[in-house]
Amino acid sequence: MTTSPIDIQPDEHGRFGEYGGRYAPEVLMPALLEVERAWRELRTDDAFWTELNTLRRDYAGRPTPLYRADRLSEHIGATVWVKREDLMHTGSHKLNNVLGQCLLARRLGKPRVIAETGAGQHGVATATGAARFGLDCVVYMGAVDMERQALNVFRMEMLGTKVVGVESGSRTLKDAINEAFRDWVANVEDTHYVIGSVVGPHPFPWMVKELQRVVGDEAREQMLAQAGKLPETVVACVGGGSNAIGIFSGFVGIDGVRLVGVEPGGLGLATEEHGASVSAGSDGVLHGARTRILQAPDGLIREAHSVSAGLDYPGSGPEHAYLRASGLAEYASVTDEEALEAFHTFSRLEGIVPALEAAHAIAWLLRERPSGDVILMLSGRGDKDVETVKNLASQDAPDGRPS
Ligand SMILES: *Cc1c(COP(=O)(O)O)cnc(C)c1O
Repeated sequence: MTTSPIDIQPDEHGRFGEYGGRYAPEVLMPALLEVERAWRELRTDDAFWTELNTLRRDYAGRPTPLYRADRLSEHIGATVWVKREDLMHTGSHKLNNVLGQCLLARRLGKPRVIAETGAGQHGVATATGAARFGLDCVVYMGAVDMERQALNVFRMEMLGTKVVGVESGSRTLKDAINEAFRDWVANVEDTHYVIGSVVGPHPFPWMVKELQRVVGDEAREQMLAQAGKLPETVVACVGGGSNAIGIFSGFVGIDGVRLVGVEPGGLGLATEEHGASVSAGSDGVLHGARTRILQAPDGLIREAHSVSAGLDYPGSGPEHAYLRASGLAEYASVTDEEALEAFHTFSRLEGIVPALEAAHAIAWLLRERPSGDVILMLSGRGDKDVETVKNLASQDAPDGRPS
């Protein structure tokens, strides 16, 4: 049996099969080509990896443990191994990507970084990296999200970042991304755009994947060392798709390992109130890449809905579209209600409050009860969600929707 995953790489146009590519306005092309050139250099540069690996270890807290969750295991009748990205500095996998891109900004000689954020997690990670590297930082955030995540706005400001509210469109993540692209076009001379997931035009889906694959590489080694075998199943939640791609990349294409991406089913796939773009969307172009997106018949991008702000995005990265089309991974969804229940169940069984995003992967385990050894990607911790969950519980919302 092979224990090495396939190393999935995009072609020279940034395509994963028929997905990906670079659908960007002419004015952005020089910047995208510059980032691609710099990334091609960095990824084969030993000094870059030495510096990044030292930061990962001493600053961010890698490797994160692989924890055998005995009470959850007993509950579902499998052996569940939890990859603890909740223990990373800033509380999620996001910093894996940000540290790499801050080093890239420095290599490009750019003193300013910008980012978009929905729940605020990528904004906080970028504000953290910017402080660490002495970079100016502006984070774009939908006005609605700023209200929902007021504490994260304050956290970013404390770290020296300027948070700009976006009042256009639905005033959420998709609009914040549009605004960040606008800023980048205007300030490309001195600014690097730190995209927060495996989305956007080439080379971002590729670069962010390569920065997140440390999670999957670690997990594979830990699994072999601790369990003496590979898992039968690997499960992760999918928003833009970076935490899932990170863990999947350690196992993709290995015989007998099933990869499952769990998307936000919101109020149910029969309604329009969900964010399941890979499993229930269709092919189209969003934010510079051809991928699976939520769109109306006329091509207009639909609003996503999820109880979890970090999954509330109407598309997913092109590599996920490719993994689905090629049968290398499968995609499912769970509802807001199932995710909330899993949030409580996991907290009580394991003494770990999961991020609401990661609770989607847990909910899939609770519902499907796969047998054998399972790796559960715990993308982040749930401290940020405690208030949301408390408000939902106290307002008796029959549709499970945060007001
Ligand atoms: C941002 C975030 C996600 C969703 O983003 P992906 O790119 O799909 O990983 C999931 N979990 C946590 C904890 C997050 O902060």
